[in-house]
Amino acid sequence: MSTDIFAYDSHVHTIYSGHSHDDVTVDAIHQKQREVGLSRIAITEHIFVPKDIKRIQKIAEELPDDPNVVLGAEIDADASRLDGTLVSPTDGLDWVIASFHKFPGTDIWWHDGSFRESKDEQTIYAKWLEWVHKTISTARPNALAHPGALISQLSMVQAFEGPVLDDFREIMESCREYQVAVELNEGMSNKTNPQQRATYYRLFELAKQAGVKIVLGSDAHSLAQIGRYVFVKEIAEKVGLQMSDCIVPEREIQDYTGALAKI
Ligand SMILES: [Zn+2]
Ligand SMILES: [Zn+2]
Repeated sequence: MSTDIFAYDSHVHTIYSGHSHDDVTVDAIHQKQREVGLSRIAITEHIFVPKDIKRIQKIAEELPDDPNVVLGAEIDADASRLDGTLVSPTDGLDWVIASFHKFPGTDIWWHDGSFRESKDEQTIYAKWLEWVHKTISTARPNALAHPGALISQLSMVQAFEGPVLDDFREIMESCREYQVAVELNEGMSNKTNPQQRATYYRLFELAKQAGVKIVLGSDAHSLAQIGRYVFVKEIAEKVGLQMSDCIVPEREIQDYTGALAKI
């Protein structure tokens, strides 16, 4: 095991996402992992709706028998129920990251500006905050994927400072209580404006202060992105992240195919 925090990638997508490069087959990912010298990776395909579990079952069938390749999933918190549950069960998975890809109470994706027609921003923000807390305490995922991504689209969140940061302080308290980690995600550099990008590190300062574990993920949708950290390195250096601040996915289930077949 490496003590280099950048030797781990906890968030990798495959061809089965439907929106990734066609080079990210499970075999190619495994080969790339060894090529770039990553100590461990987790393959975390999206589960947006319950039937997406089939994607994970396919990946399980192709997964190499390597303890340093962990099978997980990036599962959406249920945006219609808003009760803190995820859209699918988590059985048979060793690494679950919970995502908020749709505006609360809507079917509108995070990158779609039309959310403004459905509800005012303050209402969306308040619902989002309550939803995050519920997801931490109810679903208790291993980690929250790219925290703050959804609200970065709101004009009332121009930067991670002021009242937004106070709310994140409370989110970190919830995370600490329920032992949920927060993900430092490379893709956030594309999901934020310059001001948000410049202040994003403050979330991880809060996590560190609260004793919440941090996990690094590339959110790779192509081979070249696997283990590639630029924004992540910048923040890790600014915050002074050490291995003791971080958590890495662990492979505990030997037979993923068998475990997932029971769902
Ligand atoms: Zn995501
Ligand atoms: Zn992802």
